[in-house]
Amino acid sequence: MSYLFSPTPIVSVPVLGKTETFPVHRIYCVGRNYEEHAKEMGFTGREPPFFFLKPADSLVVVEAGQTGTMPYPSLTHNLHHEIELVVAIGQGGKNIQAADADKHIYGYAVGLDMTRRDLQNDMKKQGRPWCIGKAFDHSAPIGPITPKAQAGDVNKAEISLQVNGADRQRSNVAKLIWSVAETIEHLSAAWELQPGDLIFTGTPEGVAAVVQGDVLSGQVAGLGRLDVRIG
Ligand code: MN
Repeated sequence: MSYLFSPTPIVSVPVLGKTETFPVHRIYCVGRNYEEHAKEMGFTGREPPFFFLKPADSLVVVEAGQTGTMPYPSLTHNLHHEIELVVAIGQGGKNIQAADADKHIYGYAVGLDMTRRDLQNDMKKQGRPWCIGKAFDHSAPIGPITPKAQAGDVNKAEISLQVNGADRQRSNVAKLIWSVAETIEHLSAAWELQPGDLIFTGTPEGVAAVVQGDVLSGQVAGLGRLDVRIG
């Protein structure tokens, strides 16, 4: 069999301490998974988790110690940062119970769920899909994956984001409404997870706009740092 044209290359993420990289299958994202962020978006309470996806090739992969570049996207005047813990799935499955979730996890990374908030809000008002607000090109900067054995207890890790050195978001992964394990249980009831899936687990409060030239620096304790310049 031959192809009409060269297939798009597999997107992969570096893994700390390894020469092999993590080949990406799908990117799942959880909406409104920290209470204070749900409130700032006009919602309250513990609703069931809900999900959206980004294309694998929307990743901006940033090597350890480097500053990546995300081009300022088209069509928006309100590009928001959302710092997130990212879970890298190493073993697939469906209907995974929360108690069994850990063995499906390969490791963790720091990611940014960049959002064209004005377009997302327009779509919300009209009851239309969020794709144009969430799943655009270069919308998912990510740092290297730390294998879980080296990551410490990410479920209690501080998570923060600075823009040009000033704090914008600061919280703790312990404040997730749906924990990593519970998220995997819900997600795998709806889709069969595959090795190579990434899960962006949601952002804490403090989301706000960035402009061209801004430098974003995101951290999850135990996972190092993600530096991205808006180009
Ligand atoms: Mn998000």
